[in-house]
Amino acid sequence: MTDLHQASTFPSSSPLGRLREARWLVAAAAVLTCGAWAFYAVPGVVAGSAFASMVFIAALFPRRTRSRRLEVVKQRELRRMWPGTGMKVTVDALPSPCFVADGRGITRYINKAALKVYGDLTPGDPLSFSLRAPSLLEAFDRVCSSGTAERISWTEKVPTEAWFEAYVSPVFMPGTAREPGSATRPDFVLVVIQDQSEQRRLERMRTDFVANASHELRTPLASLSGFIETLQGPAKDDVVARERFLAIMQEQAGRMRRLIDDILSLSRIELKAHVKPSGEVDLVDIIGHARDALDPVAREMGVTIETDMPETGAIITGERDELIQVAENLIENALKYGGSGGKVTLGVHATAGGADNGQWDLSVRDYGEGIPAEHLPRLTERFYRVNADSSRAMKGTGLGLAIVKHILNRHRARLEIESTPGEGATFTVHFPKKIRA
Ligand code: ADP
Repeated sequence: MTDLHQASTFPSSSPLGRLREARWLVAAAAVLTCGAWAFYAVPGVVAGSAFASMVFIAALFPRRTRSRRLEVVKQRELRRMWPGTGMKVTVDALPSPCFVADGRGITRYINKAALKVYGDLTPGDPLSFSLRAPSLLEAFDRVCSSGTAERISWTEKVPTEAWFEAYVSPVFMPGTAREPGSATRPDFVLVVIQDQSEQRRLERMRTDFVANASHELRTPLASLSGFIETLQGPAKDDVVARERFLAIMQEQAGRMRRLIDDILSLSRIELKAHVKPSGEVDLVDIIGHARDALDPVAREMGVTIETDMPETGAIITGERDELIQVAENLIENALKYGGSGGKVTLGVHATAGGADNGQWDLSVRDYGEGIPAEHLPRLTERFYRVNADSSRAMKGTGLGLAIVKHILNRHRARLEIESTPGEGATFTVHFPKKIRA
């Protein structure tokens, strides 16, 4: 730092800097001139002019002193060795991929995170071997010629859509003279890359959710406003029409209420996503409770509910109310969408031990139409439905399985969906018996 400061106070390209470098020569010339004037009777004007010319020449022409030559050699050596161990350790501690390249685009160091993502690049390879994004390479060139840092972002489409942001920063070695306001080529360039895909996906999910929720609410709201206008106008005195319209309005209001309840339920569960459940619950009791609650619905639909559960109970770590919500959602779906099979089977089975001391599997199987394979991976997405009309007709909101997934995530449980079209569907939840800290 001191060197850098001195260099920038009197740079060797300035007359003062050059005089400073030639200070011993100037001092010797001053002594000689005084001696010549005092002892050899050289006229004062001649001695003074000779000294002034000497000072003028020293200020005008740069000298390459030994110390300056040593400094240049030192700088060259520093550049050859850079980045040193300290820098490498620091760069390795960064969680993001990070590259150090020289001003010609040759890689000098690749941190551990970058090696994981970009594989077998070795120092000495051109940066473009691993970083192919044209906008990043263009930014690199710009930083090299301007000497100013840049932040850029770009999207990659293959193999999957991904978003990246890079910070490209010039590195000047101590002692590199930078003229104020002028573009100096940096000795090195640091490239730090951040994968923003997860963040972007979350943002997109949030905006999609708001758009979907508004869309779902707008339809019953429009229907309600339409009926209110009709009842105020043309059907004002039509008693039969009024009764019919009021029944539809009540149904639409119910749809809006169910949707708002599910949205609130989802946000409550999301708030608790990282809180480990602490209580102990019996899955047999949970299934029994959910079955009792849905028995009237099953009877109304002409569906028989069968159970296959252990007599001794199935204890897991969990929150009772949330697990009842899971069981009710799965059983209700089996009745709604698989009721045509006439039967729904509920099961609780133990699976052999492992790291978590074994698991309990809760399954809900129906014998209805089943679900085509292409829909299975997306069923737990918010508002995803195989058939939106049949879901709405069944008073579905499209949020049931999303709520189930969130509750299960909190319980460190996994949902598996299997289905053969025409033969029904099985929703199995694998619960660890104990949730480890
Ligand atoms: P919804 O409120 O529409 O029921 P869910 O999130 O509970 O929403 O379910 C999403 C979609 O998954 C449903 O619309 C339905 O198409 C499909 N689905 C869920 N369970 C079953 C099942 N047992 N059989 C067939 N399709 C099902």
